[in-house]
Amino acid sequence: MHNEATATALPRAVLNRYEIRRIRIGHPWIYQKSIDSLPEGLKTGDAVTVIGPRGEKIGTAVYNEASKIRLRVIAPNIDTTLDTDYFTKCLKEAYEYRKSMLDGRTSFRLINSESDGLSGLIVDCYENATLFQTTSAALDLRKTSIIEAIETVLAPEILIERNDVANRKFEGLEPVKKIHKNGGKTEAELSNFAISIEGIQYRLNLIEGNKTGLYLDQIDNHLNLRNLLKRYSEAKVLDCFSYIGGFSLAAALEKTTLHVTGIDQSQECIDKANANAQLNGVEAKCNFVKANGFDWLRTQSDSIENQETYDVVILDPPSFTKNRHTVEGALRGYKELHVRALKLLKPGGILLTYSCSHHIGEDLLRSIVFEASLDTQSNLVEIDSHHQSLDHPIVPQIPESYYLKGFVYYKR
Ligand code: SAH
Repeated sequence: MHNEATATALPRAVLNRYEIRRIRIGHPWIYQKSIDSLPEGLKTGDAVTVIGPRGEKIGTAVYNEASKIRLRVIAPNIDTTLDTDYFTKCLKEAYEYRKSMLDGRTSFRLINSESDGLSGLIVDCYENATLFQTTSAALDLRKTSIIEAIETVLAPEILIERNDVANRKFEGLEPVKKIHKNGGKTEAELSNFAISIEGIQYRLNLIEGNKTGLYLDQIDNHLNLRNLLKRYSEAKVLDCFSYIGGFSLAAALEKTTLHVTGIDQSQECIDKANANAQLNGVEAKCNFVKANGFDWLRTQSDSIENQETYDVVILDPPSFTKNRHTVEGALRGYKELHVRALKLLKPGGILLTYSCSHHIGEDLLRSIVFEASLDTQSNLVEIDSHHQSLDHPIVPQIPESYYLKGFVYYKR
């Protein structure tokens, strides 16, 4: 728990009983419906002390009149001054947790928004480069303090603001991309930046592209895959939705892997994956194919000679469901993927399947796999379950913080 960095008392926002339990136990989002009264003249970005309907002290929040989330609780104590000292304290705590959990890993997510107590802030570290995003207006206004805190805790040689994400518009914010410190590197060098994570070399584009470079939330599962591969002698691996090669490279680096096929629809990802394979000296084992994953799986699994080809199949699709209304179509797609993947999997093989969609939770993912197993008459055993890497903390009071789930099946 944070100490109260009390300075002057902040104006009071008082809540009613609507969803009060959720808020009281530490969920930081407060919608208009829960607000009884706000201080007069409150402006976007201002900090307030939040008081519950029984006068209980809830914490310090920031206000945004343009956002559906009117108040975000940023500090668990009231009247907290949200300044460099406060952010430094939060970043230090987050860093300690990573240090004790990630066993010396030098590239990781340092701040994962609400699941690290700072709703609206992402900070990713790639060795001596730090990238940050402020997706709430209030933290955007406090960027200078956040940068000072990053300097104190991490002292990176390279510091890049990656505020080029679409969700900033929900807070009324414009896209911004800014290299605050380039560490003596040109833009070309920053877009082809070398790191090593868990023994795998990558070239990342720090200034453009998906996420801030790597799917850091899957790193633990890349390691899990390596462990699973140790039980094979000559594994053929299929990595669907391979991005820049996360699972593929991990697999190819195992001696027991004979061959890896990676499928992705983006040419840029395929090019990066090929370059990464070379960098790791595993290009002879890897074949990256630019294709739509659905079409590729359909064609392959329709041909009898390709069936039961792979020892390990990984399905890690993007979230195809942006909202509740598109869930049904997405479910059909997910089931189809699994039917095709199971056809291509050998008996004695392993399927790893992931969902990063909030709308496709554990139960639904399991039932999709079950239905696909009935259609293909596959006899499956669920041998493990996976979740997002530990630097994307899952906190019980914020159910949304658990978003990436995966299951591992053995095909008998
Ligand atoms: N498994 C990766 C992350 C996958 S992200 C890792 O561990 O690092 C999802 C990927 O799916 C992206 O690279 C995106 O380009 C790709 N993609 C999205 N839709 C696709 C489709 N229909 N067919 C093939 N690839 C697709």
